[in-house]
Amino acid sequence: MIHKTGILGGTFDPVHSGHLELAHAAGELYDLSEIVLIPAAVPPHKLHRQITAFSHRVDMLDIAVKEHETLHVSSIEKLLPTPSYTIDTLEYLSIHSVDNIDFYFITGADAFMDIQSWKQYKNVLKLSHFIVFTRNGQKTSKLYILLQQLGYKQNNSAWYNKKTKRFVYTSSHSLPSISSSCIRKTIAKGESVFHMLPGKVNQYIVRNNLYSE
Ligand code: ATP
Ligand code: MG
Repeated sequence: MIHKTGILGGTFDPVHSGHLELAHAAGELYDLSEIVLIPAAVPPHKLHRQITAFSHRVDMLDIAVKEHETLHVSSIEKLLPTPSYTIDTLEYLSIHSVDNIDFYFITGADAFMDIQSWKQYKNVLKLSHFIVFTRNGQKTSKLYILLQQLGYKQNNSAWYNKKTKRFVYTSSHSLPSISSSCIRKTIAKGESVFHMLPGKVNQYIVRNNLYSE
């Protein structure tokens, strides 16, 4: 039997309820056995701003997934070359995983729309199926144009690429319009973010004085 593993890559600075709902929705809608949240050690597209220490981001993720049986955290990108490219992570996981595993990379449409800037993106799309969720009620028209350009043919919400034999699934399932950048800005203004992330992650942020200026 094929084992379906979801991968949710991100900066997670900090992890929030949007990430958790995204992971759960992907898991339920696409019947994934587990979802691995993989924080980028050094995110290539965020080199212009100071990122919170990897250890804090991992600690917050560990706290966030603790009560969720199907969610796991992997610190693998700490061991891989930096900046952290998805292709390196997927190649590593493909080599070090059992044979009967299919990867489903989960993203918001904002992240997927930039895929052509990812290192070796064509190989990324060969190594993994994708599950793409619209974010903040975004229109899907641009996403669909991009998928056509990338060689995918549409069958309802499943897009298939004959050459790579990989799918991109698109979903407009509604997710909370929370972002890490909004959380960082709100904390810097001295306002509360308790409604945007798990309570214990919020306590960790306060205890470690993160994001306050
Ligand atoms: P930042 O504001 O710093 O960019 P972020 O909230 O976008 O942070 P990331 O760690 O950059 O979080 O996101 C990781 C992945 O999760 C990306 O694919 C992103 O599109 C997706 N994502 C994050 N929040 C949401 C959300 N609320 N709804 C749908 N997708 C989301
Ligand atoms: Mg983002």
